[in-house]
Amino acid sequence: MIGARVNAKGSRVAAEVAVVGGGPSGLVTAIALATAGIDTVLIAPKPEDDHRTTALLAGSVTALATLGVWETCRPLAAPLVSIRIVDDTRRLLRAPEIVFTAAEIGLDAFGYNIENRHLIGALYERARQLQIEHIAAPALAVTCDRAGITINLAENEVRARLVVGADGQHSLCRTAAGIASDRRTYPQTALTLNLEHGRAHDNTTTEFHTERGPFTLVPLPGRRSSLVCVLDPSAAAELFAMNDNDLAADLERRAHSLLGPMRVEPGRGLFPLAVETARSFARDRIALVGEAAHVVPPIGAQGLNLGLRDAATLAEIVADAQRRSVDVGSSGVLAHYETSRLADVTSRRLAIDLLNRSLLADFLPVQGIRGLSLFLIDRVGPLRRALMREGVAPAASQPRLMRGEMV
Ligand SMILES: Cc1cc2nc3c(=O)[nH]c(=O)nc-3n(C[C@H](O)[C@H](O)[C@H](O)COP(=O)(O)OP(=O)(O)OC[C@H]3O[C@@H](n4cnc5c(N)ncnc54)[C@H](O)[C@@H]3O)c2cc1C
Repeated sequence: MIGARVNAKGSRVAAEVAVVGGGPSGLVTAIALATAGIDTVLIAPKPEDDHRTTALLAGSVTALATLGVWETCRPLAAPLVSIRIVDDTRRLLRAPEIVFTAAEIGLDAFGYNIENRHLIGALYERARQLQIEHIAAPALAVTCDRAGITINLAENEVRARLVVGADGQHSLCRTAAGIASDRRTYPQTALTLNLEHGRAHDNTTTEFHTERGPFTLVPLPGRRSSLVCVLDPSAAAELFAMNDNDLAADLERRAHSLLGPMRVEPGRGLFPLAVETARSFARDRIALVGEAAHVVPPIGAQGLNLGLRDAATLAEIVADAQRRSVDVGSSGVLAHYETSRLADVTSRRLAIDLLNRSLLADFLPVQGIRGLSLFLIDRVGPLRRALMREGVAPAASQPRLMRGEMV
């Protein structure tokens, strides 16, 4: 503990760890640290409305259950029992339709889909129960020195040994640590919205792969689904601007009426697709988690699942350091975090990038290889099951929380 804790205007708040950013990655990090008894302060302005949903894979669900968050989420989430992939391209070499079921790998569900607003609400509720100190203001500057790190806010400042940069794609913490990132944009934008529909989804996610990107319907409780429709930016903007009835009819056509007539719910979003990776995940008493460290396109529900594995891994390493009375912001702790996350983040990024590019490629041999790969995945049982297991619980990263153990 550095100095005294006084949280008044003009004062200095002190904590062992300061988490900057109240998105899901930051909240899970703060909760995991607090449950391990680490003095943690959360610096997070009020969250903006987010109408997106997140497909949380089995490991993330286990982690949330271990942290005491899942019981609030469960009634608001839909299980993902099957995943159907349909090649909806008009190309010469098309892949076969594939259906994966969770039972094939001994699970009841691959994961659960939940609206981000419900997930974030449940995380804030748990943070309150754990009495995590929350300062509802943005960090304005972060400066590191030999003994600790200071976060300047508009009205006061926070002093800690470690800052967790969970402040998203345009991370102030990443800049403060002098960490550059590699960013590439795709000629694609995701339109997101939630729908009611006439037919039951049977807890099956359906991904139509089109020449412009995936069109994915993910179950929500009842006869509702969330949609992520990836298109070129002008086509996405056109759909975004349509009135509800025209848009519902257009989406029903794109979904081949699989779920019957549709009704569009309020709250549409447009997200330009990009892939971005920080060149380092930690430096100068700052460790990056979630989109501050890596952004991947919304294909295969990997983004936040990666972010939660960052959170779980970092909390575990920090808790171990504190038990050994090691400075939690020391370069050894940061290096351990970085090496622990590299393989998982790199392998996911490469796989998602490859899949997305193979969809966009007009080059016939690439389409052939993609079709053949999907054919083999469909027909070769061990390959199919290995892929499903890897998708849900990566061999490269199984932090304790994802195995149902406390950090
Ligand atoms: C269309 C779409 C669909 C997706 N679907 C899935 C899915 O199904 N499954 C999945 O795993 N992932 C999915 N993702 C990815 C997922 O949404 C992101 O990985 C996730 O939102 C990142 O969370 P985060 O907490 O790292 O960042 P964010 O959610 O961006 O949170 C960052 C927070 O930091 C705060 N902040 C910023 N600057 C400061 C500052 N200076 N001081 C304090 N706070 C600050 C912001 O206000 C914000 O609250 C999807 C993404 C998109 C675009």
